[in-house]
Amino acid sequence: MRYCIVGAGFSGSIMARALAENGHDILLIDERSHVAGNCHTTRDAETGVMVHHYGPHIFHTSSDRVWNYINRFGSFRPYINRVKAQSGGRVYSLPINLLTINQFFGTTLRPDEARAFIAAKADRSITEPRSFEEQALSMIGPELYEAFFHGYTLKQWGLSPKELPASILKRLPVRFNYDDNYFNHTHQGIPEDGYTAIVENILDHPKIERALGTRFEDVKETFHHVFYTGPIDRFFGFPIGRLGYRTLDFERFIAEGDYQGTAVMNYCDRAVPYTRVSEHKHFAPWEADKLERTVCFREYSRLANENDIPYYPIRLVQEQEMLAAYVDMARKTKGVSFLGRLGTYRYLDMDVSIGEALDAVDTTLAAVRDNSDI
Ligand code: FAD
Ligand code: UDP
Repeated sequence: MRYCIVGAGFSGSIMARALAENGHDILLIDERSHVAGNCHTTRDAETGVMVHHYGPHIFHTSSDRVWNYINRFGSFRPYINRVKAQSGGRVYSLPINLLTINQFFGTTLRPDEARAFIAAKADRSITEPRSFEEQALSMIGPELYEAFFHGYTLKQWGLSPKELPASILKRLPVRFNYDDNYFNHTHQGIPEDGYTAIVENILDHPKIERALGTRFEDVKETFHHVFYTGPIDRFFGFPIGRLGYRTLDFERFIAEGDYQGTAVMNYCDRAVPYTRVSEHKHFAPWEADKLERTVCFREYSRLANENDIPYYPIRLVQEQEMLAAYVDMARKTKGVSFLGRLGTYRYLDMDVSIGEALDAVDTTLAAVRDNSDI
């Protein structure tokens, strides 16, 4: 009997490769017509730009294990994510750093002065911030919060930052120097030939059969075990409801030369309906100058309906309760393991998805060796 992997993103592909290398036959299915899941990249036919089909993806990790693994299947070019943001008709540097602070307040503060200046603005009465808003006010004070986070977060999540967990903001650093690297990780880069080429290489094994354009629901074969990286609620047919997701709409447009001079421009004002504009040729600076035209995407966020692509899990209290019930059902379901961002209903960066898939591989191979339940 074969193993079935549902989903050809990083999570499913890594599991498929490991089992195949250990001599097992695999059927890998994905309802999309391509591999690589949400990390799919493709050359834009009109401009020749390597486009990140489901939104910009920058690889960043501090895990040597993950970095070494991914570099087995493709080479990365160094890339540092430096985001720019418009607020109140001016352009600033993000994440909040000394340049942002000095530009925003019209000051020339040095690091210690800026730290003291922002500390004086921060709300010290909030000792244990629970919401996004409390986290922001206790960290950077009201002016920077209003300028950069309030409007953007309303657009991104469709909810007041009062209702969102503090953890969302904790993803971003605040720096009192001029380091404008969006991430703190030790490794950062963009794959030279795109993410899809990497996943193609992971899947390049004679024991892996692919069935693209195929829904798991329509597959009749019986398997030794199923690794499911699709939405956990969908697997069970939504008996207790649907977990909430935000989805994204991308408005594509072409321009001559260089449209905005950088890969990502955030629009923090509420009055602008989109959250950001990404210009994908700047994700590949080594080839950007050779391309005469450019392709950009305005990004709009909204609540996902039944047929929309699920992008960001919302994870408010009602979803957490529903998730606990689905996780309980998953535990009681023999012969299926749930993996990845949709299978576990969590926002996972690529490196975390890959790290968790590698951990799952270890557990699975040990169970297969011992002939015990996976
Ligand atoms: P996915 O890539 O979602 O793969 C799941 C696959 O399963 C899909 O291809 C789907 O078609 C298939 N599937 C689902 N259900 C079924 C079914 N029933 N039958 C058949 N097929 C099914 N991470 C970073 O590290 N850096 C970034 O800059 C970054 N940017 C991001 C930007 C956006 C807008 C989003 C939404 C995510 C971003 N991420 C980023 C996260 C990254 O996309 C994920 O970590 C990664 O895609 C997770 O891989 P996965 O295999 O778990 O899931
Ligand atoms: N955020 C914001 N303004 C910005 C950038 C980010 O308010 O210019 C908020 C927003 O709520 C976002 C969160 O900070 O979801 C985390 O930022 P990140 O860049 O990790 O965004 P995501 O990956 O969610 O798009």
